[in-house]
Amino acid sequence: MPDTAPNDWDARAETHSFYGFTDLPSVQARGTVVVTHGEGPYIFDTAGRRYLDANSGLWNMVAGFDHPGLAQAAKAQYDRLPGYHAFFGRMSDQTVMLSEKLIEVSPFARGKVFYTNSGSEANDTALKMLWFLARAEGQPERRKILTRWNGYHGVTVAAASMTGKAYNALFGLPLPGFIHLTCPHYWREGREGESEAEFTTRLAAELEEVIAREGAETIAGFFAEPVIGAGGVIPPSEGYFQAIQAVLKRHNIPLIADEVICGFGRTGEVWGCQTYGFTPDAIISSKALTAGYFPMGAVILGPDLSDRLQAAAEAVEEFPHGFTASGHPVGCAIALKAIDVILNEGLLDNVRALTPRFEAGLKRLAEHPHIGEWRGKGLMGALEAVADKPTKTPFPATLSVSERIANTCTDHGLICRPLGQSIVLCPPFIVTEAQMDEMFDKLEAALNRVF
Ligand code: PLP
Repeated sequence: MPDTAPNDWDARAETHSFYGFTDLPSVQARGTVVVTHGEGPYIFDTAGRRYLDANSGLWNMVAGFDHPGLAQAAKAQYDRLPGYHAFFGRMSDQTVMLSEKLIEVSPFARGKVFYTNSGSEANDTALKMLWFLARAEGQPERRKILTRWNGYHGVTVAAASMTGKAYNALFGLPLPGFIHLTCPHYWREGREGESEAEFTTRLAAELEEVIAREGAETIAGFFAEPVIGAGGVIPPSEGYFQAIQAVLKRHNIPLIADEVICGFGRTGEVWGCQTYGFTPDAIISSKALTAGYFPMGAVILGPDLSDRLQAAAEAVEEFPHGFTASGHPVGCAIALKAIDVILNEGLLDNVRALTPRFEAGLKRLAEHPHIGEWRGKGLMGALEAVADKPTKTPFPATLSVSERIANTCTDHGLICRPLGQSIVLCPPFIVTEAQMDEMFDKLEAALNRVF
């Protein structure tokens, strides 16, 4: 047993648990918030303090922390069949029903679904599908993957290699053959005097150049989030996906939409690709797929990839890939309920109804002299802190300004996420107007304390 007082949760947490993705100086200074339970969009810690979680857990707890229907769906399935796989000619009835439902709500007329435990694994799975397909179709050299700087696709070795973050270097990543293109962030990446439309055209030309340089026949696919999430909530520049997809189509390169964050309503439509008016070749889903009540991911293949993959698998008699818990019946039962809750219990409607209030709150705080830009789509938004507003000069990274803002928010009973120089807000879909006002008021108080 840990050598600490029984109620010393903070010390016990830090002594025996190894943190990932956590600013360790902040934790060492402030301690760990040990969470015991949740109610609606609020979480409570061991000291009984209440926090409004404007982070929705990690973008996933879209129905809040105590949805009775989701807990009941889990309990009912645990009582019937608590676990099973989707291999060897067997899968649970829940898995069958979820695949039907996912294709029904997807932008695809038909297709197939493959299950994983997480978003990272779903990206790795899609990549292996593309590699498998390329070899089966006599193009073994088709292996390179295109993604964007600031795009986030996960932590497994391939998904991390897709991710366009500088911290990859700490692991000697990305692996060779993962090519990162310019982030479609007009405010940061646009050149002096360049219009947004010109910026988009430049990014499409860059893609064309990269394909010409590398050889289209060496590229397996392009992975992109409709709105970059963990890179700091970056909606694409105007017309971006239309311009990019036109280039990809010309070279027969599949576009995989990583909808782990955008999927199931975050941007105001079921899928981010619908919000931006394009149809990808496959969709990666996780997080809101189960409203965060079960760890699960899915690769949803559109008709072309699904037909070709089926043929490729039949040619060698199997697709040798999968996880012990692929198509877990409890996860599938929860996902079926979560989709029902999001679409039929008014959650998606609430995202749409509250988006104007959310944007108004972001705009109001963007008037602050140290907020350079507000960004957002649906109920995902960010405020980017700058040292000097007219020149967009960032604060030195060593100042950890966004960490300080987020830590101050925690003191005020609000959880929000520091990402780079931005503060990110992504409240649960069940948030009320009053809770949204509470979120912005607390963030404003924190901004005023930090600056
Ligand atoms: N893709 C996107 C867009 C994500 O935001 C994330 C996680 O935040 C992932 C993939 C990885 O998902 P997971 O953490 O479930 O592996």
